Amino acid sequence: SRTRILVTGGAGYIGSHTCKALAQNGFEPVAYDNLVAGHRDAVRWGPLVIGDVLDRQALVETMRRYDPAAVIHFAAHAYVGESVIEPAKYYRNNVHGTQTLLDACRGAGLLNVIFSSSCATYGVPEALPIREDSPQDPINPYGRSKLIGEQMLADYATAYGMRYVALRYFNACGADPGGEIGERHDPETHLIPRALMAAAGKLPHLSVFGDDYPTPDGTCIRDYIHVSDLARAHLAAVLHLLKGGENLAANLGTGRGISIKEILTAVEQVTGRRVPVRFEQRRAGDPPILFANPALARERLGFWPELSDVDTIVRSAAPFFELEARP
Ligand code: NAD
Repeated sequence: SRTRILVTGGAGYIGSHTCKALAQNGFEPVAYDNLVAGHRDAVRWGPLVIGDVLDRQALVETMRRYDPAAVIHFAAHAYVGESVIEPAKYYRNNVHGTQTLLDACRGAGLLNVIFSSSCATYGVPEALPIREDSPQDPINPYGRSKLIGEQMLADYATAYGMRYVALRYFNACGADPGGEIGERHDPETHLIPRALMAAAGKLPHLSVFGDDYPTPDGTCIRDYIHVSDLARAHLAAVLHLLKGGENLAANLGTGRGISIKEILTAVEQVTGRRVPVRFEQRRAGDPPILFANPALARERLGFWPELSDVDTIVRSAAPFFELEARP
């Protein structure tokens, strides 16, 4: 029978794409999700256990029942703005949730853990591109909750022999090129789905925060990585741990920075529709430019993005917003 992988948050955006990649590569993904933000119909490649990562007993029972070889921990809240207003919600779900999971793992002897971290753990970078050894100094509770998760993993590794890969995603985007699953956050705050919603007439306009940044076109620059590339990186991390690879924290990005205006141009070219835009004040805490040095993931995991050019990203996402991509 196939090696099972427990996937917390497996009904969510990145989790469901990762379940597909695991299943396509001979693993059986077991999604564990309380469906606060996930979708039951996104779980198609293995069983769905409805449960909370704050419920240690349910986790232990799931681990006993399925005997997974590793866990990938996606389950978390992930809205930066909300985390500033409601930090308790973030520390509880992301920090206490991660600790509860790690303790359940320890109890069940499940020592291989892959953790969803974020470029938000770096805060405002001192230098670009961002390397993994750059200082981690997050500027909001969400970023801090992810940094604490990484630190917990490192301490559990030292003390209890836990083995881990922490993956620091830059901007996840795009959708399954097979069209089976896409990005469905509610509310949706991410740029590309919002731009597509605006192009499809489902938003009166797209708000862009700041066009006076010290960048070539005045808008913020980010590193966009396709969700199916992220999914493959998790597969690589599973294989790394199962063959005894070392503990690791690695960026997942492309190494290329793309401005908001460049994204909007791509959306207009791919869909043939205009994106109505309203420029607004800058938001507090948005660094002008973020992009990864992606070399470590390539070196240690043999992973590099293949679908993360802007055109491919927008083309894969457009059908989920009832937009046809032009040939
Ligand atoms: P998502 O909201 O689509 O997925 C998260 C899933 O976790 C949802 O299905 C939700 O129902 C589930 N969940 C939340 N709390 C839970 C709990 N207590 N118990 C069980 N299940 C719970 O989000 P996503 O965009 O797929 O992000 C996945 C992970 O990646 C998160 O940890 C997020 O912080 C991290 N991340 C995302 C991005 C991005 O650009 N989307 C960037 C960096 C890091």
